[in-house]
Amino acid sequence: MQTIYPNTYHITHHGAKTGVTGSCHQLDTHHGKLLIDCGLFQGDETKPLNIDFPVKDIDALLVTHTHIDHIGRIPWLLAAGFRAPIYCTEATAKLMPMMLDDGLRLQLGMKARQRKRILNLIRCLTQPIEYGTWTSVANAYGTTADIRFQPAGHILGSSYIEVKLPDEQVLVFSGDLGPSNTPLLPDPKSPERADVLVIESTYGDKTHESIASRTERLKTLINRSLLDGGVVIIPAFSVGRTQELLFDIENMIAKSLTEDEKRAWSTIPVILDSPMAAKVTEQYRAFKKLWSQEAKTTLESGRHPLAFDQCITINTHGDHIGLVNRLKQTGEPAIVIAASGMCNGGRILNYLQALLPDSRTDVILAGYQARGTLGRDIQQGMKKVEISGEHIEVNAHIHTMSGYSAHADRNDLLAFIEDIETKPKEIRIVHGDQKAQQALGELIRQKGLAEKVTLAVDQ
Ligand SMILES: [Zn+2]
Repeated sequence: MQTIYPNTYHITHHGAKTGVTGSCHQLDTHHGKLLIDCGLFQGDETKPLNIDFPVKDIDALLVTHTHIDHIGRIPWLLAAGFRAPIYCTEATAKLMPMMLDDGLRLQLGMKARQRKRILNLIRCLTQPIEYGTWTSVANAYGTTADIRFQPAGHILGSSYIEVKLPDEQVLVFSGDLGPSNTPLLPDPKSPERADVLVIESTYGDKTHESIASRTERLKTLINRSLLDGGVVIIPAFSVGRTQELLFDIENMIAKSLTEDEKRAWSTIPVILDSPMAAKVTEQYRAFKKLWSQEAKTTLESGRHPLAFDQCITINTHGDHIGLVNRLKQTGEPAIVIAASGMCNGGRILNYLQALLPDSRTDVILAGYQARGTLGRDIQQGMKKVEISGEHIEVNAHIHTMSGYSAHADRNDLLAFIEDIETKPKEIRIVHGDQKAQQALGELIRQKGLAEKVTLAVDQ
């Protein structure tokens, strides 16, 4: 039996309602039910791992991208009985099992056999779709909707999703949108039509520093590290920021250094201490067809933006511990990129534990630090933090560099909305703290960009 709604659609937010984690939105219409993302709650928003809504009559799961706060609850969705198709882009289909494997192992200590069983099921259900291609999703009664994935410029394979209902209404789910002018991936282009737009608002109340200024700041920090030692630590998600950073560092070495600087820089190792990030970087190299024109041109000129000489990958745990100890004892200059991006787990913790007390250390916080994470504590200037049960003094210099964010800022979000040819009837703001949702909502109202603006936080 089909449910009757007063509107022709009904959207329920099973996450990313009052913060930035746990993205999971359910679209119910007269024609069927779709789920968009099924992410994990993190930081202060962490909740017991279960699915508290019925899943058996959902016609499909659409995945915008592979950050764990958008896919991390998929194993629990399966445990709850979900067996419908999972639609995503080709690159997302490749990255998803890798990211989930890592998450299940690290965060839940799940054994290899159990992980393999879950991942095999996910692979069987996954149906990759090329960007820009309409595909029909159906149930026993007929077509639920036609769906199309479009580049979101956030991370490799990321997309916003257009959902066209049989009555021709178009609903668009933004997923996470990338900022404009990042060098590695093309900028997102707005949809022609979005009668309803569900849009993220991570930075709905902020603007990022420019690409030129982020490069200049990173260069200054690296030069200082070369002068008097100390490590530049960059916590980064294994997918997204890591590759943007590698791209930028290679670009700086190749293009914007004086001859003296070049000589000095040739001695500083760029350490990618994350087997996961290394695997993801391989996928970035495999999907060169998705790179921006600038990145393709760099490649054609004979340079290797994601695999340059000074970039060293650390794989084994033994090598990782050895390196942490060496850097602590010698204070030699180095750039270290390690996960997790919000410092709430992973190898970055050992670096912070060893090097935060050293005043020569610089920590660059490039990504969003959710409430309740160690990254947020450090960012807010706490002078003592607890890592693995030990009280650690913070003498390191802490820098927030929003220019490396993989997220659109307020202006990018507004431009994305303004460029939609037909004005949306409803814009629903999700995936942001209350302040960010309210600020973006206010701007949209002031500019008259939609007939109706609703905030997930008020639902
Ligand atoms: Zn994301």
